[in-house]
Amino acid sequence: MRKKGPFRLGIMGGTFNPIHQGHLVAAEVIWDEFKLDEVLFVPSGRPPHKENDEIAPPEHRWMMTVLATATNEHFSASPIEIKRKGESYTYDTILELKKIYGEDTECFFITGADAIAEISTWHKAENLPEVTKFIAASRPGYKLDMEKIHPRFRKCTYLVEVPALAISSTEIRKRIKRGQTIKYLLPEAVEKYIYKNHLYQ
Ligand code: NAP
Repeated sequence: MRKKGPFRLGIMGGTFNPIHQGHLVAAEVIWDEFKLDEVLFVPSGRPPHKENDEIAPPEHRWMMTVLATATNEHFSASPIEIKRKGESYTYDTILELKKIYGEDTECFFITGADAIAEISTWHKAENLPEVTKFIAASRPGYKLDMEKIHPRFRKCTYLVEVPALAISSTEIRKRIKRGQTIKYLLPEAVEKYIYKNHLYQ
């Protein structure tokens, strides 16, 4: 049964190119540790600061996200950034989600620690701490230097090391190109979807 108090929403942001077990384990561990009510996966539409032809079309990344999250009862997925025209800004996403979930929703934006390291350069960065807290998920060996993060963000940023994030989307894409197996690195349905649609070849 849900406890009293504001709804605690984890917002899992990323390119998810493709989504893999590391993302799913990170979301599950954080859901548990931060007593979240739900973790909403939000694949980026056109990621800001990125020109990369290795990024699969948004529709495919969206489908893979849905396939990967469907069987977990406290996971869900939103196409809001995929549907939005122009660049995907986290600030706009959070305001839009607060309209849907309620203005008093407590938001925890979860993403990779290397992305969080750049947070002060994000769109409307100065306003972000008013609308969300941040959870930086780091892979083994990656050290986020909290001292380098502006104190304004440091106060509302939590760091969680997730051993399963040894899996990376970059490595999965390389393995596909080299014809190597990707079995067990991502959910079987996502693996099949990638081959059926000839992604990352
Ligand atoms: P990205 O290229 O997908 O990922 C950067 C790094 O973080 C990669 O090492 C990635 O590993 C890891 N990562 C990504 N999402 C993760 C997640 N949810 N949990 C754990 N690790 C994750 O990410 P990005 O394009 O830099 O952006 C990340 C998020 O921040 C997106 O939601 C994006 O919209 C937001 N962002 C917003 C702004 C803005 O508002 N101006 C600017 C930059 C980023 P894998 O490759 O294995 O996924």
